[in-house]
Amino acid sequence: MNNLNIALVHYPVLNKLGEIVTTSVTPFDIHDISRSGLTFGVRSFYIVNPSQKQKEVLDRISKFWSSGIGKEYNETRSQAFEITKFAYSIDEVKQNLINEYNGNIKLVATTAKDIKSDKSISIDELRGIKNTTPLLILFGTGWGLTPDIISNCDYIMKPIKGISDYNHLSVRSAVSIILYLINNQI
Ligand code: SAM
Repeated sequence: MNNLNIALVHYPVLNKLGEIVTTSVTPFDIHDISRSGLTFGVRSFYIVNPSQKQKEVLDRISKFWSSGIGKEYNETRSQAFEITKFAYSIDEVKQNLINEYNGNIKLVATTAKDIKSDKSISIDELRGIKNTTPLLILFGTGWGLTPDIISNCDYIMKPIKGISDYNHLSVRSAVSIILYLINNQI
């Protein structure tokens, strides 16, 4: 069974003022991350949002592209949705994965910030761990995952660095780069 799972977290995340908020589902995040996920061997891509209305938005998008006109129009987009799921909370995702992997799952937080912690881990180290241990990698929306969520994960991934001091990637770019690097050494 593939060990790689990812979640796009819409709650709890920070806003610009550092407050804890719920963000809305962004359709192009879902399309793009589903495609990257399927390309790089992700088993489940969870969209985490506590709102029933937001679940309905995802259901509508997913239904459109997985059947009828949408499927006919763009078969590869429809295929990508095979890994895409909804959950109301991170705990729900964790519980689903605990059931699927018989209890063995490690959570990994991602952030653009350098966080000093003994949970800090490089992507090279994670690549090794993934061969034996199921992982759930959490990605933020808004202004990123909350400090509590980050510190409660088993690992905090060291941020991707570019060649300038700027490293605030869109979540879609961050997912693609991380999924590539966790599968391939460069
Ligand atoms: N509204 C933004 C967008 O358009 O994508 C959402 C920004 S959200 C804070 C970006 C998320 O991508 C972060 O929470 C983190 O999960 C990931 N991310 C961004 N830059 C990163 C980096 N340099 N290293 C690791 N993860 C990063």
